[in-house]
Amino acid sequence: AHRPTLAMIDEARDRFESHRWQAGPIIAGEAPAGETAEMNNPARQHDIVGSVTWASAETVNAACAAARPWEADASERRKVLEKAADLYEENFGEIFALLAREAGKTLTDAVAELREAVDFLRYYAGQAEGAPPIGVFACISPWNFPLAIFTGQIAAALATGNAVLAKPAEQTPLIAFRACQLLHEAGVPETALQLLPGAGDVGKALTSNPAVGGVAFTGSTETAQIIHRAMAENLAPGAPFIAETGGLNAMIVDSTALPEQAVAAIVQSAFQSAGQRCSALRCLYVQKDIADHFLRMLTGAMDALRIGRPWHISTDVGPVIDAEAKAGIAEYLAVAEDEGRILKTTTTPDTGHFIAPTLIRIGGIADMEREIFGPVLHVVTFEADEIDAVIDAINASGYGLTFGLQTRIDDRVQHVSDRIQAGNIYINRNQIGAIVGSQPFGGEGLSGTGPKAGGPRYLDRFRKHAAET
Ligand code: ADP
Repeated sequence: AHRPTLAMIDEARDRFESHRWQAGPIIAGEAPAGETAEMNNPARQHDIVGSVTWASAETVNAACAAARPWEADASERRKVLEKAADLYEENFGEIFALLAREAGKTLTDAVAELREAVDFLRYYAGQAEGAPPIGVFACISPWNFPLAIFTGQIAAALATGNAVLAKPAEQTPLIAFRACQLLHEAGVPETALQLLPGAGDVGKALTSNPAVGGVAFTGSTETAQIIHRAMAENLAPGAPFIAETGGLNAMIVDSTALPEQAVAAIVQSAFQSAGQRCSALRCLYVQKDIADHFLRMLTGAMDALRIGRPWHISTDVGPVIDAEAKAGIAEYLAVAEDEGRILKTTTTPDTGHFIAPTLIRIGGIADMEREIFGPVLHVVTFEADEIDAVIDAINASGYGLTFGLQTRIDDRVQHVSDRIQAGNIYINRNQIGAIVGSQPFGGEGLSGTGPKAGGPRYLDRFRKHAAET
């Protein structure tokens, strides 16, 4: 409905360039005082984006006590969630500013993210019906899609009539706070949606509180396992746990692939969002016959990437989320450099938390390493007769989120897709996340519990089923 023009985006930048937001717990009862912190812009030094008051264990208890499932009938819930989608769209300028300044999102990423959030609201609104809710749902979200995933979880739990206790990631409380305000403005009751900004300790208090009837989580596989244990010890037996976690995503490029198409897909999949997407491409398998030529094309395309300030219209790659993320990735790259495995790196601005898009060689087809959550791509070559060994190596990681194949051999498409264990398989195109409604997103194995977000069955686990009622 609202298609922002460049002039509108410019105006929003002027308006919000030095704005300071304030955030804190939003609870239906009285919020106890808490510690505060300042949030900084990951792309710039000395740019304070706002301040936040953190929730405490007492805040979590107060919110649990005040939570009430949303009793309005399904048509009313649908109307309110649709209204929230409208408000998100109308406030695009402030949302882009928050996504850029708090989360380092480029304009391209911010547009895609707002769209996904709006799609989640409208799609789940359309599935609101009279089935009974679970009760109180904890929604714990990550910083890499601070609007889309945050909103998607909440919209799912609200569409099904649950009360939501939302805990955004500690890196992105400001955007979560603003989104929560818009949901309330649209008509979601304060007792049905409360916000608890904080770190892992707040998440832990939440997932151990017996008032909580179910948990929706997106984040690391390790945290998912911790939450699963906390729920088993403290929550009612059978409390639903919906988890979407990491990936170690691969792409195979064989000697028949269209090189321009494959290179474009790789650059976008590995480096867009500075590689900070669970769907991002981490390891590339290139058939040896074409490797020299192909890697020259790929590194040429990397040279053309523009790395810089998120607000600039020409920026392709923004910063990573914070100093800690940067330090962790830099340490990993330093080891690779010592080992002489860096095939290509690029330059970055010298202020802010930037990591240069980097291509690293790995030893053998079974040597794929752990998930590095940044603009770092691994590459390894394979011989024509090794395709099954490559498939086995990819499946052996235990993750199963996204997978890409670039080939012009029809039989190979069938052969590989039948064997690869991955929730989302992309043939001759880039590896992307959800297209709400038409392309539900989610993984297998260590990557998540299913059902897929943005798909027809996702809401099932937010509802009580006949056998339980
Ligand atoms: P990431 O690597 O994306 O930061 P995390 O799994 O650490 O992944 O974080 C995802 C979300 O889980 C964040 O909101 C974080 O605060 C929360 N979290 C971290 N530790 C815990 C925990 N022990 N219990 C509940 N939530 C947690």
